[in-house]
Amino acid sequence: MRTKIVAGNWKMNKSFEEADELIYEILDLLEEKGKPDDVDVILCPPFIYLELAGDITEDSSVFVGAQNVSQFESGAYTGEISAPMLRSMHVDFAIIGHSERRKYFRETEAELLAKVQTALKHDIAPIFCCGEQLEEREAGKHFKVVQKQLEQTIFKLEAEDFARVIIAYEPVWAIGTGVNATSGQAQEMHFFIRDLIWKKYGAETAADTTILYGGSCNSKNAGELFSMPDVDGGLIGGASLNAEEFVNIILAAKE
Ligand code: PEP
Repeated sequence: MRTKIVAGNWKMNKSFEEADELIYEILDLLEEKGKPDDVDVILCPPFIYLELAGDITEDSSVFVGAQNVSQFESGAYTGEISAPMLRSMHVDFAIIGHSERRKYFRETEAELLAKVQTALKHDIAPIFCCGEQLEEREAGKHFKVVQKQLEQTIFKLEAEDFARVIIAYEPVWAIGTGVNATSGQAQEMHFFIRDLIWKKYGAETAADTTILYGGSCNSKNAGELFSMPDVDGGLIGGASLNAEEFVNIILAAKE
């Protein structure tokens, strides 16, 4: 059975002190309100706070993830952070293929596949992002676009590796805009993705793959989005920067 997940993508936000405070606030609130046993929580702060996050969450059930990972394993790649480095810091997850990485850093599907493969090789579970632009949705091409993104990347993995990937459907027009996909739009795309997985890897893998929704998800809309049968939680940007808001989203993912 697939796992429900709520992951917070902090992007390039927070000072060291603010990061420290936010992690403690989240843990305190989860303790106070009761963390749902059936929901895995992942914090994805900037790289330089991963050690801090790992230390603070060490005795909790909260996981730590990176926002990116190099496709290279080591060597002369100034500014890059490798999967073995992340593994050595006990990081369990890495977001790969976020639309901001695709847009501002021109990450290609080939690079994204290499990142996924390197992460998996070092025991880091990829949170692989896909999603269409507004123009693509308006032109009715959103299913085709997402299918192509998957076919050029994670659908090239062997079944055993694919089974370790978490997918995040993040329509680009919904990221940071305050305009979330409706629960109907999210369910329709998540069902489509699960059906593609079924055709490629079979029924069991399709049923077991966690597919998160991301894009202006907050404590007000999370309950309805997460109630959809193929929406298994969320990848949360802006709303993960506020402890109360983030924890309320986690509670909304409870069965
Ligand atoms: C994201 O960047 O992954 C995201 C979902 O952002 P936001 O929640 O702010 O739309």
